[in-house]
This record gives sequence, C-alpha cells and structure tokens, in this order.
Amino acid sequence: MRERVQQIISQALQELDATRTLNDLEAIRVKYLGRKGLITLLLRGLGELPPERRPEAGRLINDARASFEAKLQSRGEELAAVERERVLAREVIDITMPGRRPVIGSMHPVTIIYNELERIFSRLGFEVVTGPEIELDYYNFEALNVPKYHPARDIQDTFYVSEDVVLRTHTSPMQVRTMERRKPPIRIVVPGRVYRSDASDASHSPMFHQLEGLAVDEDVTFADLKGTLEIFARDLFGPETEVRFRPSYFPFTEPSAEVDISCIICGGKGCRVCKNTGWLEILGSGMVHPNVLRNVGYDPGKVSGFAFGMGVDRIAMLRFGIDDMRLLFENDMRFLKQF
Ligand SMILES: [Zn+2]
Repeated sequence: MRERVQQIISQALQELDATRTLNDLEAIRVKYLGRKGLITLLLRGLGELPPERRPEAGRLINDARASFEAKLQSRGEELAAVERERVLAREVIDITMPGRRPVIGSMHPVTIIYNELERIFSRLGFEVVTGPEIELDYYNFEALNVPKYHPARDIQDTFYVSEDVVLRTHTSPMQVRTMERRKPPIRIVVPGRVYRSDASDASHSPMFHQLEGLAVDEDVTFADLKGTLEIFARDLFGPETEVRFRPSYFPFTEPSAEVDISCIICGGKGCRVCKNTGWLEILGSGMVHPNVLRNVGYDPGKVSGFAFGMGVDRIAMLRFGIDDMRLLFENDMRFLKQF
C-alpha cells in the first residue's frame, strides 16, 4: 500500500513539474483528483482494507493528496504568471512610433463651382431645390413640351428605366414639380446629376452635372433674363466678361438663346480653347414656353418667366483649365489634391 501511494504521488508531482500550460494542469488535476482520479480511487479503496490498517493508510493517502494539491496550486500560479508575461509581450505598445496622419480631403472642382453658383444665385434671390434623378417621363419630357416622338427625346440619348421612367436628362423636371406645388413668384436654381447615353470622351460623360434656373412672376421679360445672366457671368468669370446671346431652339422655351461669354483664356482674341472665335458657349436659356406654364395650371396671359441651364462640369473645366472631362470622375488623388 505504502509503495503504491508513493508511486502515484511521485508520478503526479513529476507530471505537474513537466506541464507547460494551464489547460494541461487542469487535465492532470482531473487525472488524480477527479471523480475517477487515481488519488480519489485510493481513498475509496480504504473501505476494503482490514479495519486496523485503515487509519495509517488513510493518513498516508491524505498526506499524498495534500502535497499534490499544494504543488498543483503553486504550479498554477507559476503558469498563470508566465501566461500574463506572454500576453503583455504580445500586446506591447511602442509609444515612440510616429502617428498616422489622417488624409485630409479637398473640395472637388465640381463642388467648388456648385458652391459659387449657389452663392451667386442666392444673392439674386434664387432658392436652391433638388429632386429625383430617376424621373417620370412626364416630368422629364411631356410637361416640358416634349411630347412622345419629339426628336428631342431621341431614344439614343435617354436611359429608359421603363416605358414611363427615365434617368433624368436634365434638371428641368424640378421646374415643373416646383410650379405644380407653388404659385408665382418663383425663383429657383436646381443643381444635380443628369444622365445621357453618351460615350465617355474628353468632353462627354454619361453622367454629368447641371444647374438649372427658373424665375416666374408677373411681367418677367427677356431683359430680366439678360440682366440676371450678365450679373452671373461677371460674378463667376470676372467683371470684364462680355456676354452674347444667340438665337436658338429648345422645346420648353420661346424665344430661346444660347449664351456665350468672351473667352476667359484669351480675353476674346482667339485661342485653341475658344477655337479662335473669342467666345465660349456656357449655357442655354429662354422665356418659359406658354405650354409649360399651362401644363402646371398657370395662365400664360398673367404670368411669364425665364429659364436657363448650364453644364457645371464644363464651367469647372473652363475655370480651372481642365482639358479632359474624364479627370473629374476618375477620382485620381493626384489630380483632385490640386484644388
Ligand atoms: Zn480663347
């Protein structure tokens, strides 16, 4: 009996010494002190001994258990300390390492121009409104005096979502939506993305940016349109800028005019950008067509208005000397950081 106990306890103590992890330690505890553990079984076997030998054997086994438990505890503390060291070593923070600088963005050239346009037109009493990019055919075309089969709604140019739904080809639908909801006087500008089925090249993109303007009130005349656009052009491009109106055609305005400014590169002498004409076309405009006013329930005999629309990307390109429109949409940081 004595030998058996000694053999078990010396093996147990050896195993405790050899263990390297807390998990292994727990396995050893179960092996000796668990419900079927070797020391537990020794204690249980006491009952089978003759009564006179039990006290001595009991003391022997209890001593063995006590030394096992003492060793178990001290080994447990050692291993826990080692574990802590390992975690600390892994989680070490090098406080001398240089920090990571946050990347600071800059304003996109199109956003810069939008902000300027909104500033200029707010000062003239225009309010900024925005609307859906996926638009009903009715608002994009029909209500703007462009009936079905009108050449201006060439299927080649328009992204159709379904027969009655399009990606808006201009921000003009918001003219109609605003007039439907309100009575004159109305003075709004509408910034936003528009879509045309164009291949991407230096001056075209299937998505681009517009700013649309609309003013409707009693006695609004072509002179108001001219005055407003002259103030706008001189504010945006400089006080020496000259403005020229050329007769044109749009279904939703009558009369209509293209508006040119004197070339901001050469000052009107003629250069590559203005194709030696001295003029740059920057927007389309005109007096709101009576049919458009009728479509929203206004009386063209009582109120009149003007409207204009410009490509914001083109203005940004002129203003910043950008010669390829694709640069605006490629998100190349080397390009964008310059603004
Ligand atoms: Zn020029």
